[in-house]
Amino acid sequence: MHNESANNNPAVTRSQFDEVMVPNYAPAGFIPVRGHGSRVWDQAGREYVDFAGGIAVSAVGHTHPHVVGALKAQADKLWHVANVLTNEPAIRLAKHLVEKTFAERIFFCNSGAEANEAALKLARKFASDHFPHGREEKCEAGCYCSTTTTDKYEIIAFDNSFHGRTLFTVSVGGQPKYTQGFGPLPQGIRHLPFNDIAAAEAAISDKTCAVIVEPIQGEGGVTPAKREFLRRLRELCDQHNALLIFDEVQSGAGRTGALYAYMKCGVTPDILTTAKGLGGGFPIGAMLTTEKVAKSFGVGAHGSTYGGNPLACAVADAVLDIVGDPAILAGVTVRHQLMFDGLAELNQKYGVFKEVRGDGLLIGCELAAEFAGHGKELVKASEVEGLLLLIAGPSVMRLAPSLLITPEDIHLGLERLGMAIEKFIAAVRATAKASPPVAQAA
Ligand SMILES: *Cc1c(COP(=O)(O)O)cnc(C)c1O
Repeated sequence: MHNESANNNPAVTRSQFDEVMVPNYAPAGFIPVRGHGSRVWDQAGREYVDFAGGIAVSAVGHTHPHVVGALKAQADKLWHVANVLTNEPAIRLAKHLVEKTFAERIFFCNSGAEANEAALKLARKFASDHFPHGREEKCEAGCYCSTTTTDKYEIIAFDNSFHGRTLFTVSVGGQPKYTQGFGPLPQGIRHLPFNDIAAAEAAISDKTCAVIVEPIQGEGGVTPAKREFLRRLRELCDQHNALLIFDEVQSGAGRTGALYAYMKCGVTPDILTTAKGLGGGFPIGAMLTTEKVAKSFGVGAHGSTYGGNPLACAVADAVLDIVGDPAILAGVTVRHQLMFDGLAELNQKYGVFKEVRGDGLLIGCELAAEFAGHGKELVKASEVEGLLLLIAGPSVMRLAPSLLITPEDIHLGLERLGMAIEKFIAAVRATAKASPPVAQAA
């Protein structure tokens, strides 16, 4: 009966999107309806190779049987109880994360922005609890009283960073275009140039409560942090009693070939945030921290109705079974090389990229000067050839496929990318000829 009525539903079309949705997105002209592994099919039955991975989310591809199994099994048991009760999948997942990382305590939420919101609030609260006068000392009454206003509230973040879209996280993010028109903004946030050790040394002080950094800037253009930079941030944070927060929402869950990127760079943060790949497509976020720092989130200090939802945690636990496996992580490095070799070959032929960079299966290809600003057109050209790509800013093509993508799908995707690049180059040159840039016309 239910199936019949579903089949009788009137057709959904892409043009209806513009009639019923808030216009903050501009999705592609087709609607995907099915996925398996690293392939996706649209309403018309057209097949695409998925190099986008739902923006670094589909870490184990589409409809992975182990993850689908976990979801279905939990779906028949318990969906939701809220945090007035706890549940088995949440405790199991927290134990799994504690076992595999530096963390001793976990807070669950539903997205990357919420994980960062929790991290930033926790850092402010920790400073307020321990350094009510900006230094490690008790107030005149001899206690760490919470009523004293701390002057240790400054959050240091970096230009071009991205930490989410809540008002706090978007203000901490280093892309001013995302906060324009939303003021007044939260205060006590400073932005420094990324990878600039001298600037960090000059700015981090006893007023700093936290430094937040992406080990690889994702949205900002797939720019890896230098190891020496992260090491120096760790030292400066220790020196000034500030917490170091790694935003691993994009770089985490196996994306770089390590379960978390911090494991590769030899710098351990005080707080780590993870989301995107952790749920493999089911909404979940988590904040990982130490027992000492976690204490500042006492009962009632923070919360989320859906945080630690049994369905989400059961799915994430199954994803972690896969992306936490050393053999799978080693496979990411093999796939990275296949991608890099294939992209180098394409670039030799077409000279379309200025630089190919990134780590594991988070790869950025910066367009050569002639094609700068045309990233969206390359994404469109690829869709026509049956390939899903991303951009990270107007001039960087970004790849973030499933960590399990097969060599066959990598080759097929690169073949389609080659065809797309050929047409893309021709189109950009034709437009440039028809309306030459002002500087050249003069
Ligand atoms: C995507 C992203 C976020 C925001 O995650 P949402 O789930 O969209 O809220 C935060 N930080 C980084 C590094 C991201 O890539």
